[in-house]
Amino acid sequence: MQINVIEAAPEKRNKKPQDESQLGFGRIFTDHMFTMIWTAQEGWHNAVVEPYHPLSIDPAAMALHYGQEIFEGMKAYPGRDGGVFLFRPTENIRRMNASAQRLCMPQIDENLFLDAIKSLIRIDKDWIPHAEGASLYIRPTMIATEKALGVHPANEYLFFIILSPVGAYYAEGFSPTKIYVTEEYTRSAPGGIGAAKAAGNYAASLYAGEIAKKMGYTQVLWLDAVERKYVEEVGTSNIFFLIEDELITPPLAGTILPGVTRNSVLRLAEKWGIKTSERRLSIDEVLQAIHDGRLKEAFASGTAAVVSPIGWLYHRQKEYTIAGGKIGSLTRRLYDEILQIQYGIKEDPFGWRVKILN
Ligand SMILES: *Cc1c(COP(=O)(O)O)cnc(C)c1O
Repeated sequence: MQINVIEAAPEKRNKKPQDESQLGFGRIFTDHMFTMIWTAQEGWHNAVVEPYHPLSIDPAAMALHYGQEIFEGMKAYPGRDGGVFLFRPTENIRRMNASAQRLCMPQIDENLFLDAIKSLIRIDKDWIPHAEGASLYIRPTMIATEKALGVHPANEYLFFIILSPVGAYYAEGFSPTKIYVTEEYTRSAPGGIGAAKAAGNYAASLYAGEIAKKMGYTQVLWLDAVERKYVEEVGTSNIFFLIEDELITPPLAGTILPGVTRNSVLRLAEKWGIKTSERRLSIDEVLQAIHDGRLKEAFASGTAAVVSPIGWLYHRQKEYTIAGGKIGSLTRRLYDEILQIQYGIKEDPFGWRVKILN
């Protein structure tokens, strides 16, 4: 399918922030967006890169009532050689299609999806920030737009992609976080949509997140919904524990998001000769390992932060300190390695980098 391009008039363009250290995350958007429409009769059509604009949707649009809304999160990285890289984009595209399938939404051709991202970034390439650790965040999204009440898969969808220049995640330095273990609320149940990047999962997570914040913690650690025993994820990130010499992360059993960063951490650790396990890990095993001094490191993984060290866990009115509240050496090594692959600084033995602009 042909992607049409309609450029924003120069006088309509947004002001790029001068001070890249003030970008923050997801508050500023570029001059263009990609949109494409799907109908049951015509399939995907009207693929266009056009000026960024508010959407006009019917108040009866099904996404607003029944929550057929999925998204992705990825980044374009300014390379040291002046080029622009994506990191494992096909993984995000396939995951979006997996989310779409789970929510009865239409599939998108992988090549068209990648072309849409490339066309959009090409036209807004001046928005790519160049400060250390900064990048252009990419948010592909699909919503059900059919005007109809009644619960059934919609017959019309809008797919769009927007871009946001984002600053370095650790603007104030790479520092360990405080995590609140909730036994009261869960994120996702077996058979549910926890493995999909679907909007409803995040709405459902907010309440526990607010409780954690009130208690002075940055994120929630989710336990499994059945036994409230096994570790699942932390906030909107995957989770890893280094117990003695075993790097452990929960298995992809349908209740957690299959993170691209999670997979990259596993592949790198294996390459470095570290024993990795995708297995169920109970919170009791974690607390016991802290008690015995065998828990060496804990960290969260995700596109936004790459890896985020965990320094403290709150569980049943008690706070536990992990590795003295310091950043572990494996956590730091993973962070440096992944970042340097993403920005084209280090060699890329797995072929994860995709150059989209020279
Ligand atoms: C996006 C996300 C992750 C991390 O996935 P990445 O592909 O590594 O960015 C983990 N858990 C949840 C719930 C997420 O939404």
